[in-house]
Amino acid sequence: MSENIRVAIDGPSGAGKSTLARSVAARLNFLYVDTGAIYRTIGYAVWRKGIDPRDRSAVVAVLPDLEICLTYGTDGLQHMELNGMDVTAEIRLPEVSRYASLVSAYPEVRAYLLEMQRQLARENSVVMDGRDIGTVVLPDAEVKVFLTASDEERAHRRVRQNADRSIGSIDFDEVLADLRRRDEHDSSRATSPLKPADDAVRLDSTGRYIEDVIDEIVELARERAAR
Ligand code: C5P
Repeated sequence: MSENIRVAIDGPSGAGKSTLARSVAARLNFLYVDTGAIYRTIGYAVWRKGIDPRDRSAVVAVLPDLEICLTYGTDGLQHMELNGMDVTAEIRLPEVSRYASLVSAYPEVRAYLLEMQRQLARENSVVMDGRDIGTVVLPDAEVKVFLTASDEERAHRRVRQNADRSIGSIDFDEVLADLRRRDEHDSSRATSPLKPADDAVRLDSTGRYIEDVIDEIVELARERAAR
């Protein structure tokens, strides 16, 4: 492959995007970029500074003070650094999810992160997951997938993930309500709302083996790359 290939995977929280995107990237030897982690890093910074995430001008004012870096550990996993500090674990706190969802609605925050995401895709073949990768960040991506799953299945997965990480709630109803609240917020915002690109392949992972979905996307990427 001479030119970089871009695989965009969008969808709501808990649809299995990150597991899927990470595996697809490993199979294709592409860089995996979890853009949610970047928004979470801003959410974390706002939280740590005690800023009200609903106060748009206070959030925007803090952006120039933030130095956000994506690094890849020897484990191959994406780490997030905020002003030189590794915050990879902290950004998974449930409070930070809420802050990330609120601050990511501000156009200034999205504009601030846009170039960083595009730069990664200029320098590498990528599998990038998020909410607006196929629609806004990489509208010319060779492969676009919009991944969904039923609300209940997504909540079950998140509960298992939280239990494994010993972080966040393991109460099914609470997790389900939180997912629905974030979906509603991500889909109804004016800037870059969560929605499938017109040319995205829509996949519903409910009740499917993740390996089958991975195979399907790898196949799509190989097909496009060969064109
Ligand atoms: O994917 P994840 O749940 O880690 O993302 C955290 C939050 O960041 C989401 O709820 C969403 O509001 C925001 N986000 C976004 N655009 C992206 C990725 C994440 O607005 N491309």
